[in-house]
Amino acid sequence: MIISIDQGTTSCRSILFDKAAEIIETTQKEFKQFFPKSGWVEHDAKEILECQTEVLHELLTKNGNGYLQEIKAIGITNQRETIVAWNKKTGVPLYNAIVWQDTRTTNYCQDLKDKGFEKLIKEKTGLLLDSYFSASKMNWILENIPEAKQLAAKNNLLFGTIDTWLIWNLTDEKNHFTDPSNASRTLLFNINTLEWDAELLDIFGIPRNTLPTVKQSSDNFGTYTYNGHSFPINGVAGDQQSALFGQCCFEKGDAKNTYGTGCFMLMNTGNSKIASNNGLISTIAWQIDGKTSYALEGSVFVAGSGVQWLRDGIQIINNATETEDIIKDANPTSSLYFVPAFAGLGAPHWNMNARGMLIGLTRDTNRADVTKATLDAMAYQTKDVLTAMEKDAKTQLNTLNVDGGACNNNYLMQFQSDLLNIPVDRPICKESTALGVAFLAGIQCGLWKFEELSKIRTNEKLFLPTKNQNEIKSKYNKWNDAVERCKDWEVNV
Ligand code: ADP
Repeated sequence: MIISIDQGTTSCRSILFDKAAEIIETTQKEFKQFFPKSGWVEHDAKEILECQTEVLHELLTKNGNGYLQEIKAIGITNQRETIVAWNKKTGVPLYNAIVWQDTRTTNYCQDLKDKGFEKLIKEKTGLLLDSYFSASKMNWILENIPEAKQLAAKNNLLFGTIDTWLIWNLTDEKNHFTDPSNASRTLLFNINTLEWDAELLDIFGIPRNTLPTVKQSSDNFGTYTYNGHSFPINGVAGDQQSALFGQCCFEKGDAKNTYGTGCFMLMNTGNSKIASNNGLISTIAWQIDGKTSYALEGSVFVAGSGVQWLRDGIQIINNATETEDIIKDANPTSSLYFVPAFAGLGAPHWNMNARGMLIGLTRDTNRADVTKATLDAMAYQTKDVLTAMEKDAKTQLNTLNVDGGACNNNYLMQFQSDLLNIPVDRPICKESTALGVAFLAGIQCGLWKFEELSKIRTNEKLFLPTKNQNEIKSKYNKWNDAVERCKDWEVNV
């Protein structure tokens, strides 16, 4: 058996998988979110550690301690980009963890853009010069927490993404390690040379001695001991890359889409990086046996959160699950479109002044139509991202593997398949993120062979395209028309 530590943005979970990759137990606990100022988002790193340890111990002691003998290894997957700084001597964090969503360094990033660094940074890291990624957050800590520079000067400052923070605290050896999928989200890791990059460190003013050693994604990260039992930490990956692995997207051109609050689509681009010309980012997917796999990544800001808005904002539904039933009353000939650009549009449109829009309202439009338009928007936005990805990768996707809360909506998955005109494959195990690092840890400790994994992933339902493609094309054209109409709304007023 393998335990996955799944350290997410709002909760800590531990999941126990057996050799058939079935979930045996899950434990979960939420932790606090701090919003000290507008645009600032922080977590208490100590609380994360305590919360994660608590759910880990809860799982280890289940079944009358019966699992302890069975567990072969631990995998860690985590919220990406979020950064912690701590004192090497005392282990005490200097400041709260600065979360990926935090935009306090937007102006700093703009200054670097004005100085002309964007192109170089994109070539080296595959990323955009944005406050989202870790480096500007690290710079903020060095510039604003006086102790940080003092400690760095004495070689006593450690930085880490959440995987690194957990590894350092959980391993008996106090290892300061990370994996390439997490390192590739910092803006400091050169994804071509696979090293921390001196020029990037210089641009962001980050001392080299504060950064962790980069191991492979399946590797020996150290030993965790509980109650006399020792478990190797054998797999580490950032959450989206882990989901790509858990979905067994091992071949060049394979892709998965996660339908959560937003959507995250990743496509495996094989052993070479593909630079995007369409607003996507390039990232390391994983590194195993000395081989590095790369991915293209695109995200949709508003997906499931559009459904939450129906529930909490305009209150026309009671819960997300009932949407599938509600839309049975929708008018099949209605041409209502909802572009949920609540805070602008991401890839591939990149229009921050776009605002949300419902277009095509008629006197008989009802809540079923609005609900259907909201679900449809998830599928349309996914097609927008996939189209950009296919252009960049010069390939056509064969099948889309799906996961995340909203993939349980059968209407949505069927419409997605019709819209993309390819099969949509929903696995039995929807916990792809946790499964990915279980696989990574499992191949390192010998529980599975890499070649076996694709057979272990089992499909729950395959959605095949059924609709007339001319009809689908005209719907998609109409969607694109709607998207164009909501662009630059903010500057028009
Ligand atoms: P996250 O990990 O981003 O918190 P989840 O993967 O747990 O998200 O998915 C939850 C999101 O999916 C919510 O925004 C919810 O509105 C949406 N969702 C969940 N179930 C359904 C459903 N059956 N139909 C449509 N949307 C759903």
